[in-house]
Amino acid sequence: MHATRVLVLNSGSSSVKYQLLDMRDADRLAVGLVERIGEQTSRLKHTCLATGSTRERHGPIADHDTALKAVAEELAKDGLGLDSPELAAIGHRVVHGGMFFTEPTVIDDEVLTEIERLIPVAPLHNPANLTGIRTAMALRPDLPQVAVFDTAFHTTMPEHAARYAIDPAIADRFRVRRYGFHGTSHAYVSRATAALLGKAPEEVNVIVLHLGNGASASAVRGGRCVDTSMGLTPLEGLVMGTRSGDLDPAVIFHLHRVAGMSMDEIDTLLNKRSGLFGLCGDNDMREIQRRMDEGDQRARLAFEIYIHRLKKYIGAYYAVLGRVDAVAFTAGIGENAAFVREAAIAGLEGLGLEVDGERNAVRGGGARLISPEGARVAVAVVPTDEELEIAARTYELVGNRTENG
Ligand code: ADP
Repeated sequence: MHATRVLVLNSGSSSVKYQLLDMRDADRLAVGLVERIGEQTSRLKHTCLATGSTRERHGPIADHDTALKAVAEELAKDGLGLDSPELAAIGHRVVHGGMFFTEPTVIDDEVLTEIERLIPVAPLHNPANLTGIRTAMALRPDLPQVAVFDTAFHTTMPEHAARYAIDPAIADRFRVRRYGFHGTSHAYVSRATAALLGKAPEEVNVIVLHLGNGASASAVRGGRCVDTSMGLTPLEGLVMGTRSGDLDPAVIFHLHRVAGMSMDEIDTLLNKRSGLFGLCGDNDMREIQRRMDEGDQRARLAFEIYIHRLKKYIGAYYAVLGRVDAVAFTAGIGENAAFVREAAIAGLEGLGLEVDGERNAVRGGGARLISPEGARVAVAVVPTDEELEIAARTYELVGNRTENG
């Protein structure tokens, strides 16, 4: 039997998200989530899309090994078990691939060692990704496992965009440079935007705005990333749900020396208690909109800071690209918050950027234009699909192997 299914695993420190897809038609067979791994209140939620049935398990799930075994059991109940000959591969999301991994890669011992070597630059993410990979390999040692890196799409950035203006000897020794993240999404959305315009990716220049809880912008020239807003870590760039994005690095010295905060406290402040949440106490854009409608000034100021930063990046990447064919909004806020899209583009008519109110107000649906008919630059909403991208790249890599036996 020809194996056409791919299981996509996204292993976080205390969660595992998964999707099983059939790559003949990119059909989603099952999706699910295990959360609060290692706590007493762990939960597994599994949905089989073929039957439309959802099951939940509550109670302690001690570790990733137990979590993945529970996922395998749930899949097996729907006849989709990991031992099925139809399973071609497992695709893993890996956050940090450094400069080493420029493409999705079939995992072997050498690859595991390299992902491990990158832990100092991704201390929160890579250990969890590795645990997920090792657990899956133990369950199906014979099956190809593929790592798809969040950083890979950005490895095409030229040196002048990837380097910070610091001593290169120090930068190189400690691997300090701009890596960028959300690459799987930027790759998928920039290609889907070209398709929406009826062009090949090589023909178009696109600014992608990935606005979820984490947020990043990228400048994509002819299908290749030439700049992105996240840097050494996902802290740089846009204002996010709980992260500050860009600030003067001296803020950190100041908070340490003058406010007496420890490095760990500043890390937590900037990553977990800043951004929209730090500014107004909410990081959900729906709540911020509701509060603004009621005249709440803190929510209004948080929104204005968010939009101001977004506009600056649109302008910067316009200048980097020289010619822009499309600006694409994606992820939770980009896909759903029409008022954010409207505010981000407002006043940019001089750059050929405009939003049509009626088109922008349409909810749901796939990739769509929201700029007026005949606009010089297309403005679009392009839903991202990182799991499909991981599955497609994984299948691309192992499909032939499977066919050749
Ligand atoms: P993550 O980065 O966690 O993957 P998502 O891309 O799912 O995040 O985006 C989550 C965010 O999207 C939420 O915090 C919320 O601010 C925003 N969001 C989701 N739905 C809407 C909506 N209908 N209107 C406005 N904002 C929304």
